[in-house]
Amino acid sequence: MSDLKEYLVDGYYPTIGIECHVQLKTKTKLFSAISNEAREAEPNTLVNHIGFGMPGALPVLNEEALRLASKAAFALGSRPQKFSKFDRKHYFYPDLPKGYQITQFDEPIVLGGEIEVVLDDGTPKTINITRAHMEEDAGKSTHPSAADYSLVDLNRAGTPLIEIVSEPEMHNSAETKAYAKELWLRMKYADVSYADLYHGNIRFDVNVSVSKDASRLGTRSETKNLNSFRSVERAVDYEIKRQIELLEKGKEVVQETRGWLDDKQKTVSQRTKEDAHDYRYFPDPDIPPVILSDEYISEVEQSVPAMPSVWRQKLSGLGIDHRQTESLLESQAEFDTDFLELIAGSTGKQATTYANWVTNIEIPLWRESKDKGKELKIESSLREQVFAKVYQLVDGGKLSSNNSRSLIIELLSSGELPKDLEKHAQDKGYIQVSDEGEIEEIVKAVIAANPKAAQDVAAGEMKVIGFLVGQVMKQSKGKANPALAQKIIRTQLGL
Ligand code: MN
Repeated sequence: MSDLKEYLVDGYYPTIGIECHVQLKTKTKLFSAISNEAREAEPNTLVNHIGFGMPGALPVLNEEALRLASKAAFALGSRPQKFSKFDRKHYFYPDLPKGYQITQFDEPIVLGGEIEVVLDDGTPKTINITRAHMEEDAGKSTHPSAADYSLVDLNRAGTPLIEIVSEPEMHNSAETKAYAKELWLRMKYADVSYADLYHGNIRFDVNVSVSKDASRLGTRSETKNLNSFRSVERAVDYEIKRQIELLEKGKEVVQETRGWLDDKQKTVSQRTKEDAHDYRYFPDPDIPPVILSDEYISEVEQSVPAMPSVWRQKLSGLGIDHRQTESLLESQAEFDTDFLELIAGSTGKQATTYANWVTNIEIPLWRESKDKGKELKIESSLREQVFAKVYQLVDGGKLSSNNSRSLIIELLSSGELPKDLEKHAQDKGYIQVSDEGEIEEIVKAVIAANPKAAQDVAAGEMKVIGFLVGQVMKQSKGKANPALAQKIIRTQLGL
């Protein structure tokens, strides 16, 4: 396995696999018709007899959760299994009142899959997916400091999840971060989850091991519940370093579950293999196996939107570089909007101009509104019309890039498009002067006022022409069409 040499750290090969839990965006819980909108609710108001596992309570599978999980299968480069089933996984914990979690053990909804991730330098890498299964989330425990009790909130209990398991095919933190980001993007683009990292809609468990022998995996640690790409990256780096240091001192790496302390930027042991659970899995007798028809599967397949890989291909075909492409992809997901459609639907200079307008004007607007806590709304039809009309004015030499920027900011923020945009821009003083006679007057005055510079330009020192154009712009209060100004300066100086 000599191709792994590039990954060597002090003589060790790191290997990383990820388990990722994604909350599906259903209205109700996985097995009961109780609201899944836990974010705003008072603690323990979204729980019923099914969540508590009362005797006689009968869970019923949420069809929408099944549909979203099937959709996610395609987003993972796979297809949903025609046969899957649910099992009980037993463990005792205060946030799991039933004493078992309903999950899928040996017949999950997704088996196999692959996704292409993109590293920071633009290099693609394929990561294989082992499986993805449906399961219910547990509740949430909090341990108030200096208190002799803990609090349990069961609102999250029963929220539908898919757990996506990767093959151990990543070998450094950069690849791991790229994979985590790609999963987030795909869950967003497939529209199966809010995938809000901050609220824990998507959480990563990273398994890290190091070994001197590339053909054998070392003992792994599992750092659980990371909910930012940065913490994924740092936890991986921390674990690689910690494990190598242990081995170099002649000690052993212990197989254990660890937690990430964000304030200390380190992982700490939570549970060793000694207290590993015997989950006593068995098929849940209350829930019949899930059997999907070919019609159902192909119907779901047709509802899957374009994945990031498709957009990457389209944008690179338009000459947009990979950095800008990744930033566009991430921003569209972050702000739940749809500008890629418009960019990819354009061609040539218009497409790159649109991409730059989104990058330099629209995304900062979204970010600003998010920071202020008030949500910006930009309808795709408004964006499309604003961009098209402003582009026309720019292309016709009537708007400078500075003024087109001010105009776009105004129109996108107000949400209104004046009937006669050119007149509106004129009234605002945005329209460039492209009247040759008018500019010629200014040019003559500038030449008269700057005889030395004019002489230099006439003598062939073309660097100086920028200064003269600058003077013309200044005299015209920024309204002169600079290309035209330059042309007229040349004519006036007999060039
Ligand atoms: Mn799980």
